[in-house]
Parts: sequence; structure tokens; C-alpha cells
Amino acid sequence: QQPFLSVKDLKVHFSTEDGTVKAVDGLSFDVAKGKTLGIVGESGSGKSVTNLTILGLHDPAHTTIEGEILLDGENLLTSSPRELERLRGNKMSMIFQDALASLSPYHTVGRQIGETYRKHTGASKKESRDRAIEMLRRVGIPQPDMRVDDYPHQFSGGMRQRAMIAMALVCDPELLIADEPTTALDVTVQAQIMDLLKDLQQEFGTAIIFITHDLGVIADIADDVLVMYGGRCVERGTKREVLRSPQHPYTLGLLSSMPSLEGPVDVPLSPIPGSPPSLLNPPSGCRFHPRCAFADKVSGGLCSTAQPALDVVDGRGSACHLTLDQRDEFFADFAVSR
Ligand code: SF4
Ligand code: MG
Repeated sequence: QQPFLSVKDLKVHFSTEDGTVKAVDGLSFDVAKGKTLGIVGESGSGKSVTNLTILGLHDPAHTTIEGEILLDGENLLTSSPRELERLRGNKMSMIFQDALASLSPYHTVGRQIGETYRKHTGASKKESRDRAIEMLRRVGIPQPDMRVDDYPHQFSGGMRQRAMIAMALVCDPELLIADEPTTALDVTVQAQIMDLLKDLQQEFGTAIIFITHDLGVIADIADDVLVMYGGRCVERGTKREVLRSPQHPYTLGLLSSMPSLEGPVDVPLSPIPGSPPSLLNPPSGCRFHPRCAFADKVSGGLCSTAQPALDVVDGRGSACHLTLDQRDEFFADFAVSR
């Protein structure tokens, strides 16, 4: 299937007083219609920056961007701000962690959803209000014809998140970018929102990019997974490949720090020691080497001197100097414990 979104060798660099921050440094991926790509990584790994760049929401004055972002064949990096404005909300749309920041406190929920619709379709006020009610019903707000005139503060946190999803989907976007959209919600509401997104994807065939640091969420919603570290992709593959047989020590570390993909927590967490790399002065060689438990298994001190290439075959690959045999050997304990 032809990818709906295709990102090719994307680089996003910020100029700061202290130097250049290489927030994203050579990233490529595709998302097909009706599919969900999960992007996982710690904060500062470049996952949010990547997606703000796709949406054209970066600050152009301090940002240098290279590469290509093709949405349905159209290169977003050469599109005018006006064109991007038209695409945002219409062809591509986003939901964020914080619904309160996305919804204005001064207007009713219905008006905000309706205005987005009006802006992109030229529908009348009456039609837009009807559409807002329909969207609120679709995202599971009870009595939508009453609640449409409520203000965001009259909604619970979970309902606000639903309202934001309604606003994001009001123009039937073909690409939805969800950046940690359920992080602030309790587990039950989180599960409901995930189910909602899956249902809506089934109904509309939306391509989804789901950004999270939570592998449990990835296990629930993703088809394909991309693991980011220090502005680069370190591993990618199908969800099953990445979660069941990780190839990169960082992915292994993430997986080991979560007890089980299903079921209750009964194993102590072992988060990866150390902190994410500086993107101003990234570590030499493999950016993960200061934290990697396997760096000394690679001969010649290669891990601290040479950057490992990301070798991808049929969408599956990782960037590490360990041989596949070494990984089979070193990661065996992990496989057994699964
Ligand atoms: Fe670890 Fe070396 Fe592989 Fe990097 S290249 S993940 S430091 S073993
Ligand atoms: Mg983020």
C-alpha cells in the first residue's frame, strides 16, 4: 500500500545561544492509511519535534529543516504557511496531552468544534452546530445536544479529551497525530479513549501517529513501532517484532523497565540508568553508549567512536554495532522472561 505520509531523512536543528540543537537528525518513516505508527522515546528524543514539524507548527525563525515530508504526495516542507493552515484541521489534525490548552475557556465546546468545521467547509452556523453535536455523540459524550453549549470547564478531564478528539476529527482528517493524548487521564478513561481512537480509525481509515513514552500504550494501539533516542531512530519494525524480539539495547532497556505488556505489576522496575543525551553536544559514536550495558562487548571501542548505521530491510531494522548473533545471545534472558 502506498504510504499516506512519508518522511525522508528529516533533520530539524534549532539555533540557540549555546549552539545548534540537533533535535531530529536524519529520520525516515512511512504511515499508510488506516494504520497506526507508534513513536516511542523518552522526553527530548525528538518525537514531539518531529510531529510539530509535520504539522508546520515549529518556529521558522530559529529552525533549520532538511529532508522531505510528503503528505499524499505533497511536500509539506515547501508548502506555504497558508497551505499548511488549510491542511491542518482538514487533512491532518492533532490531539495533545493537555485538552485545556487546546480548548479555549471563553467559548462553548460546540462553538469551537463547529468553528473548525465552518472554517474548512464553509458550512452555515446551523450546519456546524449540528455537526458539533454529531461529533460529540460519536466520541461518546452523553446528551450531546445539551452538552454542546457547555464550556470546557463544565466537562470532566476525560470528556474534555473526547471533545478535543471531536474537534480534531470534525473534518475527517486523513492523518491524526496524537501526542501523549492519554497521559494525564486515569487508566479507565485512558482505555476508553484508546478504544475510541481505534473505532474511529476503523470507521474513517485514518492514518495515526501515536507518540508516547508508554510501551503499554504502544502494545495496545500500534501496528508499527519506531523507537527514538537522541533525535534518531534506533529501532523500527512491526509491533510484534519490536516488543517481542527487540534488536536494540535501548529498546531492550525500555521493555525490561516495564514488568509485563499485559497483566498486573509484580516485578520491580529497572529503569535504564543515566539520563537522555544532550542534543547540543551529543555523545560521540553511538548516542546511547554512555548508558549501554553492552558497549564493552563491541571490540575496538567502536561504540564511542563510530555511529552505527540504521539498517532497514522490509521496514525492520536497528542501529547497533552488536552482531545479530551477539544480540541473540545477550538478549536471551529477556526472551525467556516474556
Ligand atoms: Fe550499545 Fe554499542 Fe549497540 Fe550503541 S552500538 S546500542 S553502545 S552496543
Ligand atoms: Mg513530548
